[in-house]
Amino acid sequence: MEESLARMAVDSKKYGHKFIKNVFDNIAENYNIENVDLVISDTSDCVAAYYPIKINGKSGYIEYNYELIIKRCLSRIKKYYEGDFNENHFIPLYIITVFLHEFEHARQEIVLRHNKDIEGLILSDSINGLDNLYKKYTGDNYNILKLYFGSKRFEKISNKLYSYNPEERLAYIKSTEIAAKVASLVSTKDYFVFKKSFLQKLKYGYSQNEDERGMFASPTKRYLDEISNNNHWKDIELMSDNLFFIERFLYGLDVSREEMETLNKILKVNSLQLKLIR
Ligand SMILES: [Zn+2]
Repeated sequence: MEESLARMAVDSKKYGHKFIKNVFDNIAENYNIENVDLVISDTSDCVAAYYPIKINGKSGYIEYNYELIIKRCLSRIKKYYEGDFNENHFIPLYIITVFLHEFEHARQEIVLRHNKDIEGLILSDSINGLDNLYKKYTGDNYNILKLYFGSKRFEKISNKLYSYNPEERLAYIKSTEIAAKVASLVSTKDYFVFKKSFLQKLKYGYSQNEDERGMFASPTKRYLDEISNNNHWKDIELMSDNLFFIERFLYGLDVSREEMETLNKILKVNSLQLKLIR
């Protein structure tokens, strides 16, 4: 998949709806997720979103707002490339990352149903917890459309928790990690830009300072505590014993000062390499 996406990023001359459809089809085929539809929206206030709602004979759809994608993309170019950038590659790579992210949400539904590993348990507590919380606040059955457009009070809570939400953290981190692999086949500079973004996303939801235990506290635990659904936390902690340190960040678990320092060092080296290419 990485090779074909890299080829599309380099070969395409324009990055409009046709490019997006090709990216969408490519990821869908590689992830074996064929029952998701693609929907264009001019009015959505999200760049893109995955909805597990039946449409056109499919079990869910990814909706995107093209204008917003390009707008967000241009603001990111300034942030990452500081004036000297290969614009042609960043735009397609950014679009690819957006769709990898949404497909990650579609994949989470499958993980939730079939996997009893650490990711499956975290997603189970997270997704079911939000469901319960929604019922508590609205007295209604969970419905993702109502979740986003119905309850302002609920929206406020879910926005507050966004950076700790393990579903979002997992989707951001995994999609950017794959995007960095795609970028590595496009150009060295694009690779370091996307790798930097990946490394920064590992820190999402962690506070700047250690807590009284001398640890950087788990954003996932904080999220599950806030939505009052940490049923599997003991099992999650048991399973996390042998994880590589990057995986502790991926799942948003407690990390030690050494682990945080190691990640910061990797980030620093990456930033230096990026500067050298300029
Ligand atoms: Zn998301």
